[in-house]
Parts: sequence; C-alpha cells; structure tokens
Amino acid sequence: MTYMGSFESKVVVFCILVAIVILIFVFRYFTRMKASSKIREVEQRLEQEAYKDIAKQKETEMKLIESNALRRTIIDSLPIGVIVTDTNLNIIALNWPCYELFHFKEPIKKIIGQSVLDYYPNIYHDSKEEKKRVDETLLRNQPTIDEITLVNNKIYQRSYFPFYMDNKLKGHLWTFEDISERKAMEKGIIQAKEEAEKANLAKSEFLSNMSHELRTPLNAILGFSQLLEIKGALSEQQKMFVQEILKGGRHLLNLINEILDLSRIEARRLIISNDTIKIGTVIEECVNLMRPSAANKGIQVTIEQSECGNSYVYVDPTRLKQILLNLIENAIKYNKDNGSIYIRCECRNDTLYVHVRDTGIGIPIEAQEKVFEPFYRLEHPHIDGTGIGLSLVKRLIQLMGGEAGVRSRIGEGSDFWISLPMVHTTSTSHEPSNVLQTEGLPNNKKITILYIEDHVSNFQLVSEIIKFAPEMTLLSARTGMEGLQTAKEQKVDLILLDLHLPDISGFEVLEKLKLNEGTKSIPVIAVSANALLEDRNRALQKGFKEYITKPFDVPVFLNAISKYVK
Ligand code: ADP
Repeated sequence: MTYMGSFESKVVVFCILVAIVILIFVFRYFTRMKASSKIREVEQRLEQEAYKDIAKQKETEMKLIESNALRRTIIDSLPIGVIVTDTNLNIIALNWPCYELFHFKEPIKKIIGQSVLDYYPNIYHDSKEEKKRVDETLLRNQPTIDEITLVNNKIYQRSYFPFYMDNKLKGHLWTFEDISERKAMEKGIIQAKEEAEKANLAKSEFLSNMSHELRTPLNAILGFSQLLEIKGALSEQQKMFVQEILKGGRHLLNLINEILDLSRIEARRLIISNDTIKIGTVIEECVNLMRPSAANKGIQVTIEQSECGNSYVYVDPTRLKQILLNLIENAIKYNKDNGSIYIRCECRNDTLYVHVRDTGIGIPIEAQEKVFEPFYRLEHPHIDGTGIGLSLVKRLIQLMGGEAGVRSRIGEGSDFWISLPMVHTTSTSHEPSNVLQTEGLPNNKKITILYIEDHVSNFQLVSEIIKFAPEMTLLSARTGMEGLQTAKEQKVDLILLDLHLPDISGFEVLEKLKLNEGTKSIPVIAVSANALLEDRNRALQKGFKEYITKPFDVPVFLNAISKYVK
C-alpha cells in the first residue's frame, strides 16, 4: 500500500512535470509565434516604408527632371542668346538662340567644354578686335553692356555678367539680344525728325523771305503816307484817304508779323530773351500807347493802383508788351462806345496776375476756351481781325512760364488775365524805353548821313524824313562797294546800311568799314525788312549800333538816328 502510494504519487509528479513541460512548450510556441508575427509586421512595415521612400525618391527625381526640362525649354525659348563659360572661357552651357547665333555645326553635347573663342570668326567681322574687347571686359570684371555688329550686319546688344559662388569667380555669362529692328526704327525716327526739322526750317525761311518781300513795298506805302499825314497840306478828304491807306497798311503789317510769330512758335524757333522788369512800368507804357485809339471810341482806360504794380517779372520785355498791347487793343475793339477798361495787378503765391477788364460785348461761355485757338473768331461783321492775336498771347505767355485765360459775360464785358512767375528783386536790369520821341535831333551842327540802299523808293522815303532836320545831308549809294567808296571819300557822320544789297551783304560792308582806319568809328545802323529777333540780335552782335526794321515808323526812325548824330 505504501509502495502503491509512492508509485502513484510519482506518476502524479511525473504527469505534473510533463504537463508543465508541455505548458512551457505551448507558452514558448505562442510567444515565438507572437514574436515572429510582430517581426513580420515590422518587416512588412519596413518594407512598405522602404518602398515608399523609393517611390518618393523616384518622384523627386522625376520632378527634378521635369523642372530641368522646363527650365531648359524656358531658356531655349528666350528671344535672347545665353552662353555660360568657365573662367577659361570654355563653354559650360548655352541655349538654342545662342547655338543658332554662333552658327554651331556640332551637336550641343560636343560643344560643351570647347573654348568660346574658337567660334568667334563664325559671328564677328573682326574676331581679333572682339577678343580684345572681351579681354578688357573680363579685366574690368563688372557687368557690362555693349553693342556689336555681326558678320550678317545685324546689331546685337551684348550683356556680360561674371558669376560667383562663395565669393569665388566661377565663370562668365553672356546674353545676346537682336536690336537691329529697334536700331533701324531709331534711325528712322532720327531721319524723320531731321526731315521735319528741315521742312520746318524751309517753312521758316519761306515765311521770313515772304515777310521780307511784303515788308519792302509796305515800307513805301506806310512811309509815304505817314509823311503825307505829317506834312499836313492835305484837304480833309485827302487826309481821310491817307488814314485809310495807313490803316490798311498797318493791318497788313500786323498780319504779317503775327503769322510770322505764330509759325516761328509752332516751329519752336521763336527766341525769347529774358530781362527783369517792373510790371507797372510796362503796363503804363502800353496804356500810354493805346490811349489815343481808346479816346477815339470815348473809352476810358484806368490803371487800378496796387502794390503788385511794383512787382518784378523775368520776361522778354518786347513780347510782354506785345501781349499787353494785344489785350488792350481787343478791349478797345470789342468794347462799347464810351465804355471803360480797367487794368489791375494781383499777386498770389509768387505769381503775378495782370487783368485787362472791359465793359464790352462779352464772350459766350462755350467760346471762352476757343478764342485762344489760332484763327478762331466770333461773328463780328464790322470789326476787323484775323483771329491770331489771342493764340499768340497764349503761346507767348506760356513760353515765358505763365498762363492766360478769360472770364466773360455776354453784354457785360470780359476780363482777360495773364499770369507770370514773380522775381524777388528791387532793381531792374532793363527798363523798357520805347517811348517815341521825335525831339533830340541836332539843331546847328551839319550832319552827313550815308544811306546804302538799292531800292529807290526807300531812299526817297528816308530823304523825305531827313528833311525834318534841315542840318542833315543825305548821301546815297546803291551798292555795298559804292557805299564803301563814298564812306572813305566823304566825311560821313552816320551810315544807314541795308542788309540786302545787290553786290555784297550789309554784314560784309560793316566788316570792311571796321577794317579801314578812316571809317571804323562811323556808327552804322542796319536797315532791314527782316523783322525776326534772331536777325536783330545777330546784327547787334556783329557791331551795328541799331537795327531798324522796314516799314519804318517815322518817329522811331528819327529817334534812332538822333542818338548817333549828337
Ligand atoms: P482778332 O481780334 O484779330 O479777331 P483775337 O485772337 O485777338 O483775334 O481774338 C479772337 C476772338 O476772340 C475775336 O475775334 C473775338 O471774337 C474774341 N475776343 C477777343 N477779345 C475780346 C474781348 N475783349 N471782348 C470780346 N470778345 C473778344
């Protein structure tokens, strides 16, 4: 029983041990199974990730290839040639336009690594000269733009850029842009401009010649009618005829002057001189000149007192006078009989305004801008005019840095204004002094004047004018050479010299007079039908004492002579 008991207990222990072993195996089996499935899982994940990475890498590579291809296409499609070389001028890269420009024959792959200088004869006329220029550019080592002419005569703009990496020069980049068309266009524009300038010059010359041709007969018409008027031995009817001749002649003269001025302004050939003047002085002068014609219509002209009258402006005094006279003349012309004109100066923000206000017919609002256009006139069947005056006013004042305008009411009157920049000064470099004087001619001294002129009527006119001063003797010469001879042989106090003579020009006569001991100190006054400011300035520069334009204004003429025969 004891034996049996111990045997059973051994069996039980054995069974338990077997069971434990089995359990251990089962446990280990399951643990292994679990571990290996985890490993497989990890392996699978790793595999998947590796696959993903490869796909990503592939994608990136593809993107890179695509972007390179895109960049290449963009660079190839540029309208300019691009070439990159290393520092030894061996080609690293180039685009398609550059390939064509250099007339390469080999495939691009073969060109890479070649020296760019080997291909210079393909494109440049003078490849040696070009190599020199490139050397200079590389030496300067700075972005450079120049122009080159190729063998096919095309013009290119070449730009050079050095390229750096980490502050080290790595190579050179050149771009080539075909600018032949632009150049041809520029040449065309320059040519067209030159032609337009030539045409303008021809127009100005034509006008200047026309003006000269018209002025010469007008000199006789206006001169002799002035003499008839001054001498006074005329019947009332004859006086009226003479006045009509004078009126018509002056109108024609005015028209010639205005058309000439307008065309000079449009051709940008009107020269404006500049001087500092006191506005009040010019206004007074103009008003004094216009008072007689205002009085003819019973019109009162009032200069309204203002501190601004003492302001200074930097202008061409003659042109400013022309502007003011024009405005005052219109204020008289388009005024009612016994009307009024008020002239007022105003200063605002360093700008001076001059208003010429009348109590005349006024201008409708829709025409107030238009009156400044050339040849624009409102319907005035009984008032003479050309429609040029105000357009000249506007253009002239603009040339002097100012503006012009008008405010007007039908039936009440018009207020024309001009503006000018003010100058801060207390003294003038020039005070206009064109007050007409007929006095001042010498009384008892014998004076001999030589008039060198080929037109008989002009000579006759001057000889008649000279009769106002009996002490004066007038000598005549019909040509330049004859004049020089007379000046040498006779004792001459003053020479009046026409600039257009049949043999030599007035300028040549003056030069010869100045070279001769006996004649060099005789004052010489130019007499010409050329009324342009340039002509006048040129003559005064050359040494003429005065420049008198035909047709003569008798008092002005006498005034000019009197200055040099005292
Ligand atoms: P013109 O007087 O020779 O006709 P303008 O150029 O001086 O030429 O003037 C152009 C037009 O402007 C004139 O024809 C007239 O109709 C109008 N005008 C000018 N000034 C005045 C004024 N003060 N009052 C009314 N109308 C004027």
